[in-house]
Amino acid sequence: MNRSPVSLQREGDIGLLLIDNPPVNALSPDTVQGLIDALAAFEAAPELRALVLACEGRTFVAGGDIAAFEDPDFSAVPYNAFLGRLEALTRPVVAAIHGTALGGGLELAMACHWRLALRGTRVGLPEVKLGLIPGSLGTQRLPRLAGAEKALQMMSTGRMVGDQEALAAGILDELCDGDLRAAALARARALVAQDWQPRRASALQVPTAGLAPDFFDQAVALAEAQFHYPALGAIARAVRAAATAPSFAEGEAAEAREFMGVLRTPQSQAMRHLFFAERQTGKIPGLPKDLPLRSIERVGVVGAGTMGGGIAMALANAGLPVVLVEATSVALERGMGLIRKNYEATVAKGKLAADVAEKRIALITPSLSYDDLAQVDLVIEAVFEDMALKKEIAAKLGAVVKPGAIIATNTSTLDVDQIAQASGRPADMLGMHFFSPANVMRLLEVVRGARTDPAVLATVMKLAPRIGKVAVVSGVCYGFIGNRMAEVYMREAEFLLMEGATPAQVDGAVQALGLAMGPCRMLDMAGIDVGAKTVIELGKTGGLPADPSYRALVQALYARGQYGQKTGAGYYRYEGRTPLPNPDTLALAEALAREHGIARREDISDNEIVERLIYSMVNEGARILEEGIAYRGSDIDVVWTAGYGFPDHAGGPMCLADLRGLAHVVQRLEHYAQVRGNAHGYWRVSPLLRQRAAEGRTLSLGAR
Ligand code: NAD
Repeated sequence: MNRSPVSLQREGDIGLLLIDNPPVNALSPDTVQGLIDALAAFEAAPELRALVLACEGRTFVAGGDIAAFEDPDFSAVPYNAFLGRLEALTRPVVAAIHGTALGGGLELAMACHWRLALRGTRVGLPEVKLGLIPGSLGTQRLPRLAGAEKALQMMSTGRMVGDQEALAAGILDELCDGDLRAAALARARALVAQDWQPRRASALQVPTAGLAPDFFDQAVALAEAQFHYPALGAIARAVRAAATAPSFAEGEAAEAREFMGVLRTPQSQAMRHLFFAERQTGKIPGLPKDLPLRSIERVGVVGAGTMGGGIAMALANAGLPVVLVEATSVALERGMGLIRKNYEATVAKGKLAADVAEKRIALITPSLSYDDLAQVDLVIEAVFEDMALKKEIAAKLGAVVKPGAIIATNTSTLDVDQIAQASGRPADMLGMHFFSPANVMRLLEVVRGARTDPAVLATVMKLAPRIGKVAVVSGVCYGFIGNRMAEVYMREAEFLLMEGATPAQVDGAVQALGLAMGPCRMLDMAGIDVGAKTVIELGKTGGLPADPSYRALVQALYARGQYGQKTGAGYYRYEGRTPLPNPDTLALAEALAREHGIARREDISDNEIVERLIYSMVNEGARILEEGIAYRGSDIDVVWTAGYGFPDHAGGPMCLADLRGLAHVVQRLEHYAQVRGNAHGYWRVSPLLRQRAAEGRTLSLGAR
């Protein structure tokens, strides 16, 4: 039998309950059972006069067992009953807290009678990030200790609070330096010596002095208005119950109801799915676990434009020294100037200390010579999107960087294998596709070339979290995972506009789903010119369908010099940054429809817009899986939520399709094939999607 992760030891006449469940002392079923057993042992040892509860390793209990929520029989009852018995002890119970006490960990600490924390400790109830609410009396004890406003704020954002803030709020009783366990034992002895009567959070009233009479109803109404996140309403209602229910037990029952209510919501399922999905992306099938990685301590970036500058900042933010190479001193100065301006803006907003910003800028060494890249461990090329230029630079880099160094290209559309070939060192090469602004956006698509050395791939995947990125592996294809799917999404958006929908209607329909920005606003912001050029370039390589109406609108806008926000007109016209209806564009869409024989309709519903945009994208995602471009459906969901503003509460496009049912998606694709015609194969259903639908399986959700 395995050793229990919980033990009860004796320190003279004080019991020491120790949790040892690495890495973060999460509340596994074994740990909960261990706690129950240790408490029973303490109850049976009346000679012990107080209990200290502490954790081994780097942190106090930092959360629950998230996988357990997927079990249809999941129940919080055993743990909650344990917390009740712990709090009910008549001998003092001291929590000795270090690291991060999160979720079930903070709920454990709040059931103790005294909370002593090592300086630097942070505490929080982050359940909302999984679409859940604290389910082990956090919604009941926290408002009693910290007040309703603070508790609501902490639970609705999931934010961790630091030691001083937690002390001031009454969540912690005392801070210490040095030997936490010794201090906790000393505190327990002192409490015993004073004959101190345990102070139970459950016996307190939620302080309501100073709150408006309708405070709780207002809080509930505000939270419920954010209907995409049902956990917010549930948290507010549970806190209202903490303040207004006649007894703690009734508040407890209210919390339990609310918890079970959110546990099975699609939103929470989706957010939990993403939690696991993000932890999964680094697992690359077929790669040996013990693959020796290359060390990355110095990095080069070629090109100090929009992307190169952002990439250099992302690296410097992680403490990595960067050599930033440009072709001309003018471009180099402009690039460095922009980097400086960017940091200064962050300092001005109070988000970064000035000296830290200076240190980061100092990590970036501007240069006009490729020779300065000789000693870097990784170089990322971010010059213009031009194959001839990229090949020329790859060859230069292949010759100049030391053996064993990794060479990456930030191309968004070009064939990484061709560029790798040009470097003369294809095994050292891959794509690192950052998203703009590269110092902000979390997504990094790592493009695995046909000849990329597995160690190179694994090294870059390991680097990603160091520079604040979530990395997803993509195979080589046009647009990789994200932009390839975005292309079909834009295709349908444009057809809908030509059929008679307005940009505001198309954007509104997907924004109502929770997407940050609809396709028309997005392209107006990114630049119609940028979008049109990629379509035109794709056409030159023979990559477009033989359909003259394919994305005809974006090309026509480009031809008219309507580049979106930057020229004041695109799909919309702009006053400042405010998009307004653009009658010229509506007329243009109508003229194009006439030219291409596209029937105009007045009956385009929001549902049709959503289905055509999202389901065609899901279909493309299934093809991406079929072709092995992505390893798993959940990787595709991470691409869309981390890189394209797809809402976390929908879990990504593949998860959305799984939740709506793949059979339904197939049926709708077939419907559009019929009503729209399928001459160009736009509605050809992916065989994988069809097969999964027939088998009642998913593409992403739970497909771990
Ligand atoms: P950009 O025009 O802002 O910057 C390109 C920079 O490369 C310029 O500063 C130019 O002076 C420099 N350059 C050109 N030739 C050079 C050479 N021989 N040596 C050194 N520097 C040279 O372009 P960008 O938007 O930063 O795009 C760069 C790359 O990133 C492209 O491949 C693009 O497809 C890709 N990308 C762009 C975005 C985006 O949103 N802008 C997103 C992802 C990927």
